[in-house]
Amino acid sequence: MFKNYTTNDNLFLPPTLGDFIAPNDPVRIIDRIIESINLKVLYEMYPGGGCPAYHPRMMLKLLVYAYMRNIYSSRKIEEFGKNDIRFMWLTGMNSPDHNTINRFRSGHLKDALRNVFAQVVEFMVKEKLVSLDTVYTDGTKIESAANRYTFVWGKAMQTSINRIADQINQLWAYAESVTKQELLDTAPITYQEVTPQKVEEVIERIQEVLQDVEADKKVTQKLRYAKKNWPQTLQRYEQQGKILDGRNSYSKTDPDATFMRMKEDHMLNGQLKPAYNVQISTHQQVITNYTLHQSAGDTITYKQHLDTFKQMYGAYPTTAVADAGYGSEENYMFTQENNIKTFIKYNYFHKEQSKNWRKDPFRSSNFFYNAQRNCFYCPMGQAMEHIGNKMQKTANGYEQTISRYQARRCEGCPLRGSCHKALGNRIIEVNHNLNNLRNKEREKLLSEEGLKHRSQRPQDVEATFGNLKSNKAFKRFHLRGLKNVETEFGLLAMAHNMAKIA
Ligand code: SF4
Repeated sequence: MFKNYTTNDNLFLPPTLGDFIAPNDPVRIIDRIIESINLKVLYEMYPGGGCPAYHPRMMLKLLVYAYMRNIYSSRKIEEFGKNDIRFMWLTGMNSPDHNTINRFRSGHLKDALRNVFAQVVEFMVKEKLVSLDTVYTDGTKIESAANRYTFVWGKAMQTSINRIADQINQLWAYAESVTKQELLDTAPITYQEVTPQKVEEVIERIQEVLQDVEADKKVTQKLRYAKKNWPQTLQRYEQQGKILDGRNSYSKTDPDATFMRMKEDHMLNGQLKPAYNVQISTHQQVITNYTLHQSAGDTITYKQHLDTFKQMYGAYPTTAVADAGYGSEENYMFTQENNIKTFIKYNYFHKEQSKNWRKDPFRSSNFFYNAQRNCFYCPMGQAMEHIGNKMQKTANGYEQTISRYQARRCEGCPLRGSCHKALGNRIIEVNHNLNNLRNKEREKLLSEEGLKHRSQRPQDVEATFGNLKSNKAFKRFHLRGLKNVETEFGLLAMAHNMAKIA
């Protein structure tokens, strides 16, 4: 026995689309929430005039719902918009094409999305689904849509510039030797001034003086080659240097993406890939903040990340929890100055809890410090005197003071073999401010509240990344450029949050 069915039958009274959608379907939640938020900022992105555009509220609902359903390509969104009952219900049977979807996503939405995202989070705060007081922060690298093999390396570029400078110096020296005169008082070119104009000038000067003598043919050939190619090459390097803007690399097909080491290494060859560093803060697995960065390290992103939080919600969180990747002097000072209670681990936090670490007499962190005399005592009981300070700057420009201490006489010490391998007397470097900050942090981390936050952090923020990358299959961006990938991640975060409500 089989059940009867009739294909393509017309109903006498046609049903509405909503009849096929369950009352608790997530699409209804997206509709309800986006209907309730103020989209003034988004409306302002439309200059007015011309043919009426698709309603931005409808476009926003369409995109957020598509991201919730793991549909990221504009062509796929267009297809679902035409064929899927839920999409048709949500858009009121409007079916924008992929170009319109792309224009909205990369154009109108990109400067308005953060405001919309914050309103959704604030809605959740009102509904008591999440709190903005405590944030768990972590970062991950997500691959860019760029080609993996079109890279520009800052170091290779610098090596090539230095090589040009060396070769010019050699040509200059040759010219001086054959003309038997000093061409100029100063050296022809230094590594600091390898500009296209300067290189061209120097080559012309060398060619000029070699005209009157019988110069080596190879040299004149090389000069011709250099004049034709080097200024152009240096001009290209100048442009690439501007794009690099302090980074080590970028991709030619997405200049905002930087080559980074990824956890997902399916070829198992440690290959660097063009990517963005995505930082998120969560509470109860709801994303309350997201920022995208072009540097691979998490430490230097933290201040900017917290500042963005303040811009969105008007205040910093009261409690911030993060892993050891964020435990730097700069971050501890910043949170302290802004009255943020932190539970941020630092390097060696776990190791220093071990007996071996604490009992190791040769570890400089275990040396006794006499604050009055400002000296340390080494395992031999010898005072290590303060021999000066050195200043260090972080990538964000934060200045650190490192104090240096040196033992007086290591020679002949019976403990020398176990103590250190350097030549001469042992020198240790200590950052007193960081040590004090770490001591305070350790106390908090080992408290009951600290234990609670430490066990909550992986379940909160790491599980959220797990959901985005694994369940939502978001392993690579689909758009290019920092602003565009930020929009894309914002949509993904909103979709994730609404799925949490659903
Ligand atoms: S080697 Fe030098 S620093 Fe080490 S215990 Fe001996 S005297 Fe002290």
